Amino acid sequence: MLWRRRFVVGCESDVMRVVFIGPPGVGKGTQSTRLIEYLGTPHLSSGEMLRQARSERTDLGLLAEEFMSQGKLVPDELVLQLIAQRLDNGDCQHGYLLDGFPRTFVQAATLDELLRRRGTPLTAVIELTASTEELVRRLAGRGRDDDSPEVVRHRLNEYNRLTAPLSDYYRRQGLLYTIDGVGSQDEVFGRIRQALEEAKSKIKH
Ligand code: AMP
Repeated sequence: MLWRRRFVVGCESDVMRVVFIGPPGVGKGTQSTRLIEYLGTPHLSSGEMLRQARSERTDLGLLAEEFMSQGKLVPDELVLQLIAQRLDNGDCQHGYLLDGFPRTFVQAATLDELLRRRGTPLTAVIELTASTEELVRRLAGRGRDDDSPEVVRHRLNEYNRLTAPLSDYYRRQGLLYTIDGVGSQDEVFGRIRQALEEAKSKIKH
């Protein structure tokens, strides 16, 4: 029994449960592709899950659609429903990358409570940053249907108002790593990898 417990605890120390947040246009998409390869975990992108629900025309997807098309955040309870279901999936047992979630204080606090009950705390929160001018410049060249200038402005405002304050929340928990998102893809990824190595060493010692 004892060896079994040690084995389980041993595995747990390698599990990376990472939150990835950052404003629209900061380059999270590109970096998250590399990150999941590096972490070897599933990629839980709330934006992707919502777009999929919308294209499948599920009840939740139809409800979410009108918020997404205006660049507004989808109500917390809808997003939380998607994420909670997804975290129950067996593939999340060995860690995950949560991308674009949480985006509000209610989402962050509910996630904490959910993870506390399961005894599976977060390992690190990576916040990718860039100046507003840089973000607007990058978003202008992207061409997604929720990337019109007015919608983009709204999404950036929503980020600053609702999501940016989460950095303090996670800093207080000692989980936050703020990464400069300006530079080549390799440079930015190098910074993220360094932060994750540091977070990993904290679990082990
Ligand atoms: P993203 O792909 O992360 O930029 O998300 C696209 C859109 O999906 C956002 O503009 C929101 O309308 C919605 N969305 C994604 N994640 C969340 C979330 N955690 N909370 C609320 N709305 C979200």
